[in-house]
Amino acid sequence: MPIQAPDLASPPGDALWFLPLGGCGEIGMNLNLFGHDGVWLMVDCGITFEKAANGQNRVEMPDPGPASAALSRLEAIVATHAHEDHIGALPYLYSRFPKTIYTTPFTGGVIQEKFKGKALRPNINWVNSYGSRQIGPFRVTWLPITHSTPETHALLIETPAGNILHTADWKIDSTPVVGPAFQSQQFSSKTLPPITALVIDSTNALKPGHSKSEQLISEGLRRLIEQTQGRVIIGCFASNIARLQSIGSAAVKTDRHLALAGRSMTRMTRIAKQAGYLKHEFPEIPLSDLGYLPNANALVIATGSQGEQGAALSRLAVDEHPDFALSRDDLVILSTKTIPGNEAAVTRMIKGLRAQGAQVIAADDHDELNLHASGHPCQEELDHIYNTVHPYISVPVHGEPEHLSASAARARQHQIPHQLVGKNGDLFVLSGHPSIKRGCLKAGRLKYDPNNKTLIQV
Ligand SMILES: [Zn+2]
Ligand SMILES: [Zn+2]
Repeated sequence: MPIQAPDLASPPGDALWFLPLGGCGEIGMNLNLFGHDGVWLMVDCGITFEKAANGQNRVEMPDPGPASAALSRLEAIVATHAHEDHIGALPYLYSRFPKTIYTTPFTGGVIQEKFKGKALRPNINWVNSYGSRQIGPFRVTWLPITHSTPETHALLIETPAGNILHTADWKIDSTPVVGPAFQSQQFSSKTLPPITALVIDSTNALKPGHSKSEQLISEGLRRLIEQTQGRVIIGCFASNIARLQSIGSAAVKTDRHLALAGRSMTRMTRIAKQAGYLKHEFPEIPLSDLGYLPNANALVIATGSQGEQGAALSRLAVDEHPDFALSRDDLVILSTKTIPGNEAAVTRMIKGLRAQGAQVIAADDHDELNLHASGHPCQEELDHIYNTVHPYISVPVHGEPEHLSASAARARQHQIPHQLVGKNGDLFVLSGHPSIKRGCLKAGRLKYDPNNKTLIQV
């Protein structure tokens, strides 16, 4: 029997709905919609990368088309943090729903940068940690949470029909190097109003234990740098400002100057400095000055740790970098995890770097050296947050189906009364008796064609 389709253009006043268009049942391209009292609130609008036939990465994102009824009643957009899988689709899709974007200074700075050269400028409403905004019928409060980029915020979304705690991407880090430590107390059921639904990043729900602290990585990197005679080149994600700060501090302690190789690295550090980060212990010099330094006094942070063609590390691997070349005593550290799908490109790049005479140490192969930490919670952390928040409903997101089920199982162990495990296009009914209207709309994807600068349905 076909289900009676709810009218997405007008969520009732006593309803609280959640409609994910991306990021639920998959990792990447998060786009969440919350509906109540005739309007919708969008939380995040991200992209994902897929391998095209030519081996290049192709940008894909949720297709907003099937949700046009809901989006015609969109009140605003909230961006939780500056990662591509949360804000990367805004430059592509914003013209279809040009509503105010509520976000914090660093995330907003990264968003503004993405719109450079575009006719349409985003209208940003700047919020600080612990700030609240009344957005239509939604009262939204920004609660800082630890992750792998600064100013990541969980959202408390209050409505008369129920309250949501949306974790955003998170981990429990008591020594995050940049930004405040994880504050368990602010998520306690004693501090928060009763939480109807906890929408929770469950990426690492299959991993036992606890994620590593960023401070541990800071020490691991410093130790390796200290032991090296030649130049050290570190590949890491440009948005991981805490990692950049750790490397900067290690540079000061080991009497090295710091050069940045790669456009995204210079762009991100500039935005970070504008937002007040990387102000101390970041002894930056122009990359073109590197040649004037003794090798023992040089440290380089480079883009391209995923083996991306044309990025700094890949150019070094084929000895085609315009500013410098590797030599025998140099050490390359890959301070990242290889994203599934990129293994072949990374292996090829490592081979090339070694062929240039450098030693290469990859975090993937040396867990014991503490060269990379995940930004997502393992099982002990999920247990902690379920116990601390104790919501009425658990809604695992930001994971493949097996991650979502594993997170729901942990919620059950902690006596969370309801677990709703669904996928993109499902309508999660969070008010009244919790339920899922499966396949409420047909969730799809758009891909970006860089030649014609158009979006095409996948
Ligand atoms: Zn994410
Ligand atoms: Zn993230």
